[in-house]
Amino acid sequence: MAVVGAGPAGSRTARELARRGLRVALIEEHQQVGIPSHCSGLISPRTWQMGETGDDSLICNFLRGAYVHVQGGGHVELGDSPVRAVAIDRARWDQSLARQAYAAGAEAVQARCVGVERTRDGLVLHLQRNGNSSRLLARLVVGADGAHSRVARALGLPPPRERVLALGVEAEVRLPRDDYVHVFVGPELAPGWFGWAIPLGDGRARLGIGCWGGAGEPLRRYRQLREAFPWLLGRVRELRFYGGSIPLAPAPLTYGDGVLLVGDAAGQVKPFSGGGIYTGLVAAHLCAEAAAHALARGDVSAPSLAAYQQAWRRALGRELARSRRLRLMGLCLGQRELEMLMKALSHPRLRGLAVRNADIDYPSRTLLTLARATPSLGPLAAVALRRPRALLHLLGAFMGW
Ligand SMILES: Cc1cc2nc3c(=O)[nH]c(=O)nc-3n(C[C@H](O)[C@H](O)[C@H](O)COP(=O)(O)OP(=O)(O)OC[C@H]3O[C@@H](n4cnc5c(N)ncnc54)[C@H](O)[C@@H]3O)c2cc1C
Repeated sequence: MAVVGAGPAGSRTARELARRGLRVALIEEHQQVGIPSHCSGLISPRTWQMGETGDDSLICNFLRGAYVHVQGGGHVELGDSPVRAVAIDRARWDQSLARQAYAAGAEAVQARCVGVERTRDGLVLHLQRNGNSSRLLARLVVGADGAHSRVARALGLPPPRERVLALGVEAEVRLPRDDYVHVFVGPELAPGWFGWAIPLGDGRARLGIGCWGGAGEPLRRYRQLREAFPWLLGRVRELRFYGGSIPLAPAPLTYGDGVLLVGDAAGQVKPFSGGGIYTGLVAAHLCAEAAAHALARGDVSAPSLAAYQQAWRRALGRELARSRRLRLMGLCLGQRELEMLMKALSHPRLRGLAVRNADIDYPSRTLLTLARATPSLGPLAAVALRRPRALLHLLGAFMGW
C-alpha cells in the first residue's frame, strides 16, 4: 500500500502500518522530509511525547504562559504555569518521524504524486521525479498530503469546507519574556483568525498571522499588526517568510473505495488554533488500524473503510465541533465585546482557572470551564444581549452540537 506525504500524519500512519507487517511505500515530494517547513511548531507536551523522537535537542523553547492582546492595545496575561507548550524544530521533528517509519520497514519513495486512478487491479499512483514519470500500484492509498491533497482531488473526495490563509515569519526580535507566547485578536486586526508571536529564547521568534481573504491579505495584515504594536514588534528583522492554508473544518468524507485521508488532508485540525499536529497523530493511529483491518479482510471498499471516519470522529469530533463553535462565537464579537471579555478574564479567579485548566489540544474544555465560572457570567450575559448569534454558538459549544 502507499502513503502519500511524509508529514507527521503520513509518517506516523506508515510507521504503524509497517509495524503490522504490511508493505508500505511512503511517498514524499521533497528531497528532504520537512524542508521547507510551513509551521510555527508549537505543540503541547502531550504531542511531544506522542512523537516518540527521544531527542530533546528538537525542542527550541518551553512556554509557560500567554499574553492575549486586543486591538486597542490592552492585554491579559495568563500563565506562570507549568510548561504548557514547546516550540520544536519542525523540520527535524518531521525527519525524525519519517525515520521511525523507515526503521519499521516503510520504503522511502522520493517523488511527487501527480495523479491517482482506480483500475481493476487496484489504485495506480502516477509519480514524477526530476522530469521522469513512474507508476506504483497499491491496493490502498492513504492521502496524507496536506491541506490541498492531490489524492483527495484525484479520487473525488470533497475538500474541507473552510480554510484560512496564514503567513509565518522567522525573525530576530526581542520579546519581553522568553517563556510567553503572544496572541493578537480583533476583528480589524486579523478578520477570521488571529496573529501570534512565539519566542524561541535566543533573540528569535516565530511570528505569524492568519485571516480570511486573498493571497496577499496575510502579508498586509502582518504589516498592520507590526504597526499596531510598535512597542513589541517595532524592531523586527525578518529572516524567512512562509505561508500555507489551514483547514478549519473536517473534510465531509475521509474515506472512499481504496482510499483514506489523514491529517490536514482530512481537515483534522483544531479550529480554534489551527494546530494540526496533535490531531494528525491521533488520527494516524486510527487510520493505520482501519487500513490494516480492511486489508486483512481483503475488502478495501468504501463501506469496509467507513469505520475509520467513525473512529476518528469518536476520538476528536466532539472537541473539534466545540472549538469550532467557540471560534464562531468569537467571530460574532465586535471590538467592544472582546474588550469586555478580556477585562473579565483579568479577574483573579478566572485567570487562576484559565492557568490551571489550559490545554492547547483541548481548548474548548478550558474555555467552557471559564464560561461556567461566576465572574464571567455578567460579561457573557452583556455580550449575549448585544450579539444573540454569539449566544447561540456558545450554547452549541456547551451542548456539543
Ligand atoms: C503558518 C502556519 C503555522 C502553523 N503552526 C502550527 C503550530 O504551531 N502547531 C501545530 O500543531 N500546527 C501548526 N500548523 C498546522 C500544521 O502545520 C499542520 O496541521 C500539519 O503540518 C499537518 O500535518 P500533515 O502531516 O497532515 O500534513 P503536512 O505537514 O502538510 O505534510 C504533508 C506532506 O505531504 C507532502 N506532499 C504534498 N503533496 C504531495 C504530493 N502530491 N506528492 C508527494 N508528497 C506530497 C508535503 O511535501 C508534506 O511533506 C501551522 C500551519 C501554518 C500554515
